[in-house]
Amino acid sequence: MQNNTWIDRSLKAVWHPCTQMKRHETFPLIPIAKGEGAWLYDFEGNRYLDSVSSWWVNLFGHGHPHIKTRIKAQLDQLEHVMLAGFTHAPVIELSERLSARTGGTLGHAFYGSDGASATEIALKMSFHYWRNTGKPEKTGFIHLSDSYHGETIGSLSVTDVAIFKDTYAALVKPSAEVPSPDTRKAGVHENADMQAAKAAAALEAHLAAHHATTAALIVEPLVQGAAGMAMYSPQYLRRARELCDQYQVHLICDEIAVGFGRTGSFFACEQAGIWPDLICLSKGITGGFLPLSVVMCTDSVYQAFYHDEVTKGFLHSHSYTGNPLACSAALATLDLFDQDDVLARNRATADHINTLAAALKALPYVRDFRQAGTTGAGMIWAFEVEDAPIGFAQQLFAAGLKRELLLRPMGNTVYWMPPYCLSHEEAGHLVSATFHALQDVMGQACGVISGIT
Ligand SMILES: *Cc1c(COP(=O)(O)O)cnc(C)c1O
Repeated sequence: MQNNTWIDRSLKAVWHPCTQMKRHETFPLIPIAKGEGAWLYDFEGNRYLDSVSSWWVNLFGHGHPHIKTRIKAQLDQLEHVMLAGFTHAPVIELSERLSARTGGTLGHAFYGSDGASATEIALKMSFHYWRNTGKPEKTGFIHLSDSYHGETIGSLSVTDVAIFKDTYAALVKPSAEVPSPDTRKAGVHENADMQAAKAAAALEAHLAAHHATTAALIVEPLVQGAAGMAMYSPQYLRRARELCDQYQVHLICDEIAVGFGRTGSFFACEQAGIWPDLICLSKGITGGFLPLSVVMCTDSVYQAFYHDEVTKGFLHSHSYTGNPLACSAALATLDLFDQDDVLARNRATADHINTLAAALKALPYVRDFRQAGTTGAGMIWAFEVEDAPIGFAQQLFAAGLKRELLLRPMGNTVYWMPPYCLSHEEAGHLVSATFHALQDVMGQACGVISGIT
């Protein structure tokens, strides 16, 4: 069957996420027949380099043979068993190995099936912890401006992205907002650390006034993804950890997007030398194969629920909690980190990308070109396009497709979050196709002569 047949059938029967469906009258929907490595293929033999790892989940690209093998092996043993009253090898092994990745600090793993559910779990756990420990007045949450923690009604209360939140405002319980340490918000003579210090001072003022009624602060460590890849100094996390300790407030790190090496360390919070009280993981955890999320917490959080009374326990449940196939995909993902020095390989890829991107950075309308983290191995890049035409994001998406590239700008922010399997040649394609797609949309009028091909 050809692309068009699939498109017609999809538009009739499938309600696509994050989409005004009417837009598809003029805007392409791409049926994908197969994926391999960094590439997606449609039904007519066209291919697209997946520069966003399919919404940030396909960590090692598509169809990774090791992940497939582990899922297939698990399929012959046990596809699923409920996790209340039962347990199984993949969930035990995964919990132990994730705990070991935190040096045992976050040693208790509670599972969900998607990121928003992990946010809900972390918020409920923090709230319930204070209730169990005799501080029931600690019910409030703090989030950063431009935060994103998912789109269920509970997680929207700590999310600050207008396009997702405003429509549902009447349903959402408000939570307190403190300024983002986003480096782009620094004043002219300020650097990233100074911006972080300013934002931390605002957090301190808020905590000084409201700590008695605050359960937790939730942050996306180092990179605020959905708001447009806002990046900030690890200094902020260090200070937030100190303040949360000082004022007895939980620190929740939402590493759903930034965990598993994305910012150049296995967990982003490692670059600040801190651990949160609760960490949320999802997206890359199964390498993009199956839905899974997990909240891991400290022993101190866990012990507050350990009691003779049933209702002091954490009674939250999801039907697919700890699904063995999803856990086996996550174990395979961890295997890949154990077998190879993934971060060192990413650093080499990143060096290559940074070198190639020099001409792109020099385009007169490109602003704030940035890479995640401070280790050089971060695998998220972003930049803003100044004076972009109306409809820029859609135009660049379409221009990218013509150049065998899947780009999904957020407003005027263009970003790359490529799979770790990217070869040097594919990195070259990523940068040059982005460069030319940008020129297609922005016009050659700017007259930059560049050596890029
Ligand atoms: C994607 C994301 C979520 C929500 O995850 P879903 O699986 O889409 O519900 C939460 N927090 C962050 C930081 C994310 O990037």
